[in-house]
Amino acid sequence: MPELPEVETTLRGITPHLQHQRISDVVIRNRNLRWPIPDDLPQLLRGHTVRRLQRRAKYLLIEFDHGTLILHLGMSGSLRILPHNTPAEKHDHFDLVLGNGKLMRLRDPRRFGAVLWHEGGVSRHPLLAHLGPEPLGTEFDANHLYQATRTRSAAIKLAIMDNRLVVGVGNIYANEALFRAGIRPQLAANKLSRPRCALLVQTIKEVLHEAIQQGGSTLRDFIHSDGSSGYFQQHYFVYGRTGEACKRCSAPIKQIKQGQRSSFYCSNCQK
Ligand SMILES: [Zn+2]
Repeated sequence: MPELPEVETTLRGITPHLQHQRISDVVIRNRNLRWPIPDDLPQLLRGHTVRRLQRRAKYLLIEFDHGTLILHLGMSGSLRILPHNTPAEKHDHFDLVLGNGKLMRLRDPRRFGAVLWHEGGVSRHPLLAHLGPEPLGTEFDANHLYQATRTRSAAIKLAIMDNRLVVGVGNIYANEALFRAGIRPQLAANKLSRPRCALLVQTIKEVLHEAIQQGGSTLRDFIHSDGSSGYFQQHYFVYGRTGEACKRCSAPIKQIKQGQRSSFYCSNCQK
């Protein structure tokens, strides 16, 4: 599944191709994504110019003078920049055809992605209105995490994966950040001391920054790849390493279920 670093890398990859470009056409081959792609999108966008691109949580926002195209990659979506005449393949559901001879193509085999149109302030869109702060922004700091966890007795891992507390901390990064901070994923969120909140904020930012940096080095493949998803392969301390030796202390990594997701941790290094 594309996590925040893949979405950020996608944003950086597509921005230079899309910004200030006029939309010459919109092609919808299959509108049945998570929500239907609006039928009137070609009429809405033809002839209009892309002003700016942004990311909010895992949403890509392509801004025009008269509204915003909201994209989500869902479980399996990817975007590529291709020449106009590139034949579409089976899962290529949506193209934004640009005035510069290129097109931006959405491929989404599982069709959990989204292409939506919103007029007016996009931060008030129902999908975006209740989101917590960005993990890499200054608003997400020790004080925010400390205050936001005081009334939560749920496990800290579930708390940091809750979009109302902070957006974009997916399962992989939650596991890795907790390991680096030495915090056991089951710990009740309101039991986390202020210094440990500070440490966790720091390790969350760290793992996301590292993933984005690694994504940057594979950017060309990501954008021009011939269909491979391009999601990053990283070296993890705990994620997916059940029974293997902890890289710090050699104890076997444990696996449990929390909220239907797998958690991986070292019972020796994480308290
Ligand atoms: Zn260990």
